[in-house]
Parts: sequence; structure tokens; C-alpha cells
Amino acid sequence: MQSILVTGGAGFLGSHLCDRLLEAGHDVLCVDNFFTGSKQNIRHLLSNPHFELMRHDVTFPLYVEVARIYNLACPASPIHYQHDPVQTTKTSVHGAINMLGLAKRVKARILQASTSEVYGDPEMHPQTEDYWGRVNPIGPRSCYDEGKRCAETLFFDYHRQHRLEVKVARIFNTYGPRMHPNDGRVVSNFIVQALRGQDLTIYGDGQQTRSFCYVDDLIGGLLKLMDTPADFAGPVNIGNPCEFTMLQLAELVLKLVGGKSKLAFAPLPQDDPRQRRPDISVAQDMLQWQPRVSLEDGLQETIAYFRATLAA
Ligand code: NAD
Ligand code: UDP
Ligand code: UDP
Repeated sequence: MQSILVTGGAGFLGSHLCDRLLEAGHDVLCVDNFFTGSKQNIRHLLSNPHFELMRHDVTFPLYVEVARIYNLACPASPIHYQHDPVQTTKTSVHGAINMLGLAKRVKARILQASTSEVYGDPEMHPQTEDYWGRVNPIGPRSCYDEGKRCAETLFFDYHRQHRLEVKVARIFNTYGPRMHPNDGRVVSNFIVQALRGQDLTIYGDGQQTRSFCYVDDLIGGLLKLMDTPADFAGPVNIGNPCEFTMLQLAELVLKLVGGKSKLAFAPLPQDDPRQRRPDISVAQDMLQWQPRVSLEDGLQETIAYFRATLAA
């Protein structure tokens, strides 16, 4: 049993991670400023004596005593991270410095929730960890992409310079219950639109691809990465290699939800990556991990969640 800090613990992924760490018998300190996260996501944990919630912004120093740190604090959807882009970069960069400084002081192992966005709009397909990426440094997505790239730099420099035990996970598109209904991500948008009988908004021609990982699989990957030997820092792609076009996703959601929604085409946002699929060989070799939940099964769970939430 360990004392574990989860930053961004009231968010979509963070709240599932808190659940799993508590189930495994750990003490969890959840730190969040509730920018995109919600108390609703962790309400069921508030009475658990092994769970502690702290409202705090990771761009400011944090002095606590913990054995491990999962650094997830950062808005993840384009609508949210572009709402206050300067704060997004601060969260990634100052947040990483503070959490690395904390890890250094208390000699904690620390995991960074990085992203497939470090590959930008990739020319290499599928993406392997040794691909350096194609990122626009001055576009609307840059606050997130470059912030996360700089955070990776900091993690590897603290590893080399201060011998810190770090783990860097490059997370690909993940979906599931507790996604924010209004955060504009494609899975939540399509499901909410279909449940409300509205048309599904396809940006561009819908031929761009993404590879969607169900949240339970993803969290399993993060837990395994944290437990790898001390000298293994990654980075490791964690995601589901099954690739779909947005048109295929829309058709699947329509089939599963039913109803009368149609497709409505809208302009493609600037710098929107054309394709994305993880090569997960490193995760398979080093973590003995691979996703198990199919898109159809995961969507069923997510649809059930949104059905209940929208009805409430
Ligand atoms: P989310 O927006 O639901 O969660 C992020 C959490 O961080 C929220 O609870 C938010 O309130 C909190 N937060 C934001 N800024 C903060 C700050 N300055 N101080 C303290 N807390 C702060 O997003 P998510 O999907 O759960 O993403 C979690 C992490 O995983 C993020 O770092 C994200 O970049 C990464 N990630 C997610 C995906 C995905 O598909 N969901 C893909 C790649 C990477
Ligand atoms: N820090 C923190 N908690 C700690 C230790 C450090 O938040 O327990 C922050 C502090 O703001 C510091 C940053 O982490 O500036 C980086 O710490 P480090 O020791 O690497 O460098 P410093 O700036 O202290 O020389
Ligand atoms: N997208 C879409 N309709 C929507 C929301 C998103 O067609 O209502 C597209 C978006 O342009 C992108 C893909 O779906 O090509 C995934 O978008 P999301 O914001 O979920 O994730 P990211 O672009 O960060 O991978």
C-alpha cells in the first residue's frame, strides 16, 4: 500500500485512475483545480477514508509527502485547451516543473500523461515512439502539443540530470463514461447528438482517422507502466490500434443509438491531424499490455452512461 498523488484526479481519466488505485488498496491524494474536472466524477469516493481531495492548481508549488505521482492535470479536449491557451501551456510546463520538483524532493516515482499530439499531423503511420513528430509550433493546437512536448523534455532531463524515476505515457484518443458531454470530442459529441436526435457533425469529409481506446484498457496500461523497472522511462504509446474514419464512427454510433439523426458536414478545424494510430509494440513487450475492449462494446458502455446522465 502506497500514498499516491493523482493530479487532474477529478477529470475523465483521473477519476477512473483514482478508482483503480483505491481498489488496489492504496491511499490516493487527488489534486485538481476543477477547470474541466468535476466533483461529480469523484463524489462516490469522498467518504472513502483512503481518499483525499485537494483543490489546487499545479502551476503553483505543492508540498505533500507521497510515494508516487501520476501527473494528469491538463485540459485535454481542443475546445477546453484552446479556451485559455496561455494557461494550458503553463499547466503543462510549470505543472511539470512543480511535480518533478516535488518528486525529486520526496524521491517519488512520477508518470506523465503525455499524448499522441506530440506526433502532430504525422507523416509516419502508424506512429512509433521514435518518430519525432510534425507539430506546428504557432497554431491553435500548439499550446497543448508544444506544452506536452516541453513536459516530456523536462521529464527526461530530470531523469538524466537528477536520476529521477520517470515514466512517460503517450496516450491516444480515449473515451468512456465520465467524458465531459460538452467538451467537443468526437465520441461524446456523436453520442450526445444521437441521443438528442440531432444531426451528427462531421468535420471535413470525415475521412480523417483516429484510433479509440476504452478508458478501462487505458488505465490498465498506465498502472502497468508505473510498475516497470526503475530504469525504464518510456515513452510508451498507450492506445488502441484499431483505426476508424470519423464517418465509420458516426455510422457505428447511429447503429447503436438508433433514432433518426443524419450526418451534417462542417468545416475541418485548422491543423486537424489527418490520421492517427499507435504502434503498440513497446507496450506489448515492456508492459505485456494490449487493449481488450472493442469499439462497439466500449461505445455501448459510454452510450449507457450518457443516456443516464442526460436523463438525470
Ligand atoms: P480532463 O479535462 O477530463 O481532465 C483533466 C483534469 O485536470 C481536469 O480534472 C482538470 O480540472 C484538471 N486540471 C486542468 N488544469 C489544471 C491545473 N492547472 N491544476 C490542477 N488541475 C488541473 O481530461 P482527460 O481526458 O481526463 O485527460 C487527462 C490527461 O490525459 C491530460 O493530461 C491529457 O492531456 C491526457 N490525455 C488524454 C487523452 C484522452 O483521449 N482523454 C489523450 C491524450 C492525453
Ligand atoms: N516544488 C514543489 N514541491 C516540492 C518541491 C519543489 O512544488 O516539494 C516546486 C518548486 O516550485 C520548484 C520546482 O518544484 O521551483 C522545481 O524544483 P527543483 O528542486 O527541481 O528546482 P528549484 O527551482 O527548487 O531549484
Ligand atoms: N470531429 C468531428 N465531429 C465532431 C468532433 C470532432 O468530425 O463533432 C473530428 C475532429 O475534426 C477530429 C476527430 O473528430 O478529426 C477527433 O476529434 P477530437 O477532438 O475528439 O480529438 P483530437 O482531434 O484531439 O484527436
